Amino acid sequence: QSSVEGATDYTFKILLLGDSGVGKTCLLTRFAHDSFDDKVASTIGVDFAVKRLFVYDKRIKLTVWDTAGQEKFRTLTSTFYRGAKGIILVYDVSRPDTLRHLEEQWMRELELYGTETDAVRMVVANKVDVGDARRVSWQEGSDFARKHGCLFVETSAKANVAVATAFEELVLKILETPSLTEDAACGVRPGTVRLDMPSSYNMYDYCYC
Ligand code: GDP
Ligand code: MG
Repeated sequence: QSSVEGATDYTFKILLLGDSGVGKTCLLTRFAHDSFDDKVASTIGVDFAVKRLFVYDKRIKLTVWDTAGQEKFRTLTSTFYRGAKGIILVYDVSRPDTLRHLEEQWMRELELYGTETDAVRMVVANKVDVGDARRVSWQEGSDFARKHGCLFVETSAKANVAVATAFEELVLKILETPSLTEDAACGVRPGTVRLDMPSSYNMYDYCYC
C-alpha cells in the first residue's frame, strides 16, 4: 500500500458529529462501500474509514472519523477533533430534536475543542427518504446552516441520495480554503469530482483503534 500512500496529494481528516441514531455510521458506510445495512450499522461503530478520490489532478485521501457510540455518553475527546479539516454535523429530518441538539450540544462542543481550526463545516439533513415522517423542512435546515456559516446538503444514506455529493462539496470547499491545504498555491478550482478512479485508488480500509 505504500506506493498508494506516497501518491496522495492531500490527506483530510473529516468528522461526523451528531446525535445517536441520525445515521452517521450509515452515511459513512454508504460513502465508503456504497451499501446500506441496518444490522451492521446499529451494532458496529467504526472509528474511521479511508476513502480515496480524485479532484481534478489531485489525489485526495479522506480519513472519515465516526463515533463508536461515544456520542451517547458525550465522551468524545480533543483527540477526536484535532486536525479536522472538515466537520459534518448530521441531523435526522424526522427528529427536530436532533437539529436543536446541533446548536445546543455539537456546535458548543466544537467551540470547546475545535477552536484552533477553521475547518469547513457542513450540516447534513439525513433520512430524506422518510416521506410523511419528515418534521424538518429543507428551508429550516438551510436557514440553520446559513446562520452558522455551514454548507448544507439533504441526504439519504438508505436511498443513496446525495451522500457522495455531500463529501465532494466538503472537499471542494476545503481545497478552496488556503489555510486548510498544505500547499496554499495549489490552483484547484471548484468543479466535478471523479469517484470512478483507477481501481488501485478505489480502496478503503478500516482501522479499529
Ligand atoms: P448513528 O448512531 O448516527 O451512527 O446512526 P446509524 O447509522 O447507526 O443509523 C441509525 C438508524 O437510522 C439505523 O436504524 C439506520 O438503519 C437508520 N438510518 C440511517 N440512515 C438512514 C436513512 O437515510 N434513511 C432511513 N430511513 N433510515 C436511516
Ligand atoms: Mg454510529
